[in-house]
Order: sequence, then structure tokens, then C-alpha cells
Amino acid sequence: MTASAHSSARLLIVGPQGSGKGTQGVRIAEAFGIPVVSTGDMFRANIKEGTALGAQVTAILDRGDLVPDELTGEIVRDRLSQPDAAQGFLLDGYPRNAAQVTHLDAFLAAHGTALDAVVLLDVPREESLARLTLRAIEQGRSDDTAQAIAHRLDIYENETAPILAAYGERGIVDRIDGVGDFDQITDRVFAALEARGLERAVAA
Ligand code: ADP
Repeated sequence: MTASAHSSARLLIVGPQGSGKGTQGVRIAEAFGIPVVSTGDMFRANIKEGTALGAQVTAILDRGDLVPDELTGEIVRDRLSQPDAAQGFLLDGYPRNAAQVTHLDAFLAAHGTALDAVVLLDVPREESLARLTLRAIEQGRSDDTAQAIAHRLDIYENETAPILAAYGERGIVDRIDGVGDFDQITDRVFAALEARGLERAVAA
């Protein structure tokens, strides 16, 4: 382990709704000393604060549809341009389709960087559905209705899962079994990233 408080790692976490990527994402980001950049969290924060952007996206999120690529790309570019993301970041929820992959590639290339690793949390659809149903009861998220959940899972399977082929060709995808004890899953992720030579800033 290095002794520094920050390390350089540009990561993306991908997984179906209910795969636990939010929880694992925070743990990974903390260990690497990098910020989590979650598009879903940014949209929800805007909705909560009543901003113009929030008003624009409320109905879209409630339906479980994707926010237009241009709008999403803009908020991601702004966020990744902040000083705390200069040495690394963990993206959660972006990119989510092929157009967004192209957009992110161009942005990173313009800054002379690229993604180091894509963590895929592998969870079967039945397990995802069970966890989301529980989350709906616990957190009361307005897009955790049965209809919006099914729609988001369909978008994941049709648009998001295929982006893994593109990243797979680059040899940067780590497929992690996302079923089991949360700490064990975190350890699996750390082991995979370490095998790539990505060092945590904070030892576990
Ligand atoms: P989940 O993974 O459970 O769907 P997220 O928090 O990642 O939750 O996203 C919630 C919603 O925010 C999505 O259903 C979509 O409406 C919007 N959103 C998040 N990320 C993107 C993105 N990359 N492109 C378009 N819309 C997005």
C-alpha cells in the first residue's frame, strides 16, 4: 500500500439496478481517495434543491427513462473538470449507452487520460429485482415503482450491458460476482484492481 492519501485511478462501476454498485462505489472511492461521480445522485440532488435542471429531469427519472445524452454529458464534463477529479474518479451511472461511451472517450482523450478499469458487478435479474423491491420499501425512491424498475432493468440490458463489449475489447473490464457478503464483494473488487497495479491510497 502507498502512504499517500490519494492515488490515481479512473474507474467506472457498472451493474444492473440493485447490484449494490452505489454501496461498493463509495467504498472503492474512499479506498482510492477519489470522488464518486454518480449521475443519478447529481440528478436527484438537483430535483431536491429545486434547480432548473431538476425541474427538467423529474418526470424523466420517475418514468425510468434516460435523461438526454447532451444534458447528461454536460453535467459529467462539468463535474470531471473540478479539481478534486483531476487525479481520478469513480463514475457510477455514466456512461450508460454507446453514445455516452464515445462522449466520455473524447473528453478523457482531450485531457490525455482514459479509464483504467471498469468494474462490472454481476448480479442476476431475479436478485436485482428482490433487492430493489426491498430498497423501495426502505428508501421510498420515486423511481422504485414496479413499472419504472422493470423499465430501468430493460434499458440496462438493452443499452448499458452492450457497452461492456467495447470496454472488454480494451481489456479493462473486471467482472466481479456481485452476489454474497458485501465485504467479500468489496475484497473481490480490491483484488481485481490491485492485480491491474492500481494501488489503494488507504489500506483496508
Ligand atoms: P439506477 O441505477 O437505479 O437506475 P441511478 O441513480 O443510476 O439509478 O439513475 C437514476 C436515473 O437517473 C436513471 O433512471 C435516469 O433517468 C437518470 N440517469 C442517471 N444516469 C444517467 C445517464 N448516464 N444517462 C441518462 N440518464 C441517466
